[in-house]
Amino acid sequence: MVANLAPAPLGGVAEPGRCPAAKMAQGRRTVAGARLRYPLTRWAGEISPFGWRYSSARGAWRMHTGIDLISPPGTPVLAVMGGQVARVDTIGGYGIAVIVDHGNGWQSLYAHLQAVAVRPCTLLPAGGQLGWVGRSGSASTDHLHLELRSGTGPSQVAVDPAKYLPRP
Ligand SMILES: [Zn+2]
Repeated sequence: MVANLAPAPLGGVAEPGRCPAAKMAQGRRTVAGARLRYPLTRWAGEISPFGWRYSSARGAWRMHTGIDLISPPGTPVLAVMGGQVARVDTIGGYGIAVIVDHGNGWQSLYAHLQAVAVRPCTLLPAGGQLGWVGRSGSASTDHLHLELRSGTGPSQVAVDPAKYLPRP
């Protein structure tokens, strides 16, 4: 499944509706009860969970809107569901990030990448490679920050992906 991909340049944002029409598997209306593909080719060594956490360095609580999968740099990063790449960009603290649109209001975001293997509008099967683990943006160690989002516009919410990921 993981081919010998060459890193691609950062491609920017795919304007909604601007991607060439393509047949893609639409995401389920809900991922409840569904299984996501594991986003790495090996199990993460350590996981930092979704939810509120206290930073003693900042002296403040912060919401962690995804999960961190600690993994060696260069580990292939895979799409958790089939979909179309909506954004490939450097996004603030996320560093080099890819957003995949799965249809029906579901999106996944992969952050702190070392490099990307896709461009906006690229169609990915579940398990298709989109980049490599790194520590770009605000990351103190090499890891994948994975987010799962449901809904559109102001009603978009972050969902804990760990509930739907396979476990070792
Ligand atoms: Zn994170």
